[in-house]
Amino acid sequence: MIQLIRGFKDILPGEVELWQKIENTARTLFENFGFKEIRIPIMEKTELFSRSIGEETDIVQKEMYTFPDRKGDLVTLRPEATASIVRSYIQHKMYAANPVQKLYVIGPMFRRERPQKGRYRQFYQIDAEILGVASPLADIQLIFMLVKLFSLLQVENALPHINSLGCPDCRPGFKADLTAFLSDRADKLCSDCVRRSIKNPLRVLDCKVPACQEAIAGSPSILDTLCDPCRKDFDTVKTMLEQMNITYVVNPRLVRGLDYYNRTTFEIQTGDLGAQNAVAGGGRYDGLVQMLGGPDQPATGFAIGFDRLAEVSGFRPEDLIRSPDLYIAALGEKSRSIAFNWHCEMSLKGIRSEMDFQNRSLKSQMKRADKLGANHVLILGDEELKEGAALFRNMKTKEQSKIVLSEVVDRINKLIPR
Ligand code: AMP
Repeated sequence: MIQLIRGFKDILPGEVELWQKIENTARTLFENFGFKEIRIPIMEKTELFSRSIGEETDIVQKEMYTFPDRKGDLVTLRPEATASIVRSYIQHKMYAANPVQKLYVIGPMFRRERPQKGRYRQFYQIDAEILGVASPLADIQLIFMLVKLFSLLQVENALPHINSLGCPDCRPGFKADLTAFLSDRADKLCSDCVRRSIKNPLRVLDCKVPACQEAIAGSPSILDTLCDPCRKDFDTVKTMLEQMNITYVVNPRLVRGLDYYNRTTFEIQTGDLGAQNAVAGGGRYDGLVQMLGGPDQPATGFAIGFDRLAEVSGFRPEDLIRSPDLYIAALGEKSRSIAFNWHCEMSLKGIRSEMDFQNRSLKSQMKRADKLGANHVLILGDEELKEGAALFRNMKTKEQSKIVLSEVVDRINKLIPR
C-alpha cells in the first residue's frame, strides 16, 4: 500500500470541521479589518525565495523543496507566502493605484524540516500583510488582530513577544557588537552557530541548542542600540498595545528565521505547544519590496501556523460536527425513489438530510439515524405509501405526525429550525 510522504498529512472529516471554523473565523475577521484575499501559486522560481528569505537562513540552506523542472529551470515549493505576495504586488503594479494594500493568504507551505509534533513538511499558514504603510499603527493593528483571532478561537495563554530589529542605520553597529561578543565564545557554540556568528549573527540569538543559550547569556541587547526613529517607533508600539489592553512581553532575543525583517518583530507564543511554542510570527520588512525590484514601499505582516493553531484552539472538532437535520428511512423501491427526490430537493434548500441508498431494513436504517445523531426521522414504507402520508418523528421529543406526501418538502422546510 502506498502511504503518504513523511511529514505530510491528511486532514480528515472529523478534524476538518475545526480547520473550517478557524479559516472562516480568520476570513471574517480579516475582511472586517479591510484585508482582501490574494491567491498566489504554490511554486515559484527558486530565486524569489533565496533572495528574499536570505541565503544564510535555515529555510534556504536546508529546507526548501527545490528541483529542476523538465526544462531544467529551478523551481521551489513555497516555504512561506510573503515573498510571493510581494512579487505579485510588484508584478501587477498594485502600488500604482494605491500603495496601501492589505492582503491575506491561507494555504499550504513546504519546508523539509525534521518532522515532529507541531512540525510538518507540508504545513498550513494564514498570512496577512500590510504593504505601503510605514506607521507603527500597521504593526499594532496586526498584533491586535492576532490577539483577537486567538481569543475568538478560544486559545488560552497566547502571549505576544515583541522586539525591534532596528534598521540599516542602527543594526550594523549592533551586529558588530554581537559578532565581537560571539567570537569570544565560538568554542561554546554549536557548529551552525559558529557559521551564523560570522554570516548572520542575529540568528544565534534564537538558537534552541541549550549550550548556545548558555553561551549567549549576557549578550548585548539590540534594544540598547536602536537609533532614535527606531526607538520612537517601538515605543509607540508598546504604548498603543498598553492602551488597547494587550498584554505583551518584550523579548530582545526574538530575531525570527527570515532575513528580511526590520524594526518591530513579533511572535505569539503559547505555553501549550511544548518545543514548537510559536503559533504565529511576523514583523516589518521595509526593504523587501525594493529589494525585489519594486518601488521603495514599506511593509509588515504575519504568518500563523494553522496546524499549531488547530492544536491550541479551545474548540474541539467533535463540538463542531453537525449532525443531519433529517434521516429519511425508506422501505421498498418505490418509496426509495420518492425519498431520493425529497433528499435532493431538501439538500438544495439547506436541510441536511441523509438516506440509505441500498435496501436496508427499517431497523438498520433507524440504527444509522441514531448513530448519525439525526434530529428528525421521516419514515416512508408500504403502509405510508398506501395511506399517502409519511411519518415524521422528532427524535428528541419523540413526537410524531403525518405529512401528506405531496407536502413533505414544504412542511419539513417549515418544521425544521435552522
Ligand atoms: P515563519 O514563516 O517561520 O515565521 O513561521 C510562522 C509560523 O508558521 C510559526 O510560528 C509556526 O506556527 C508555523 N510553522 C513554521 N514552520 C512550520 C512547520 N514546519 N510545521 C508547522 N508549522 C510551522
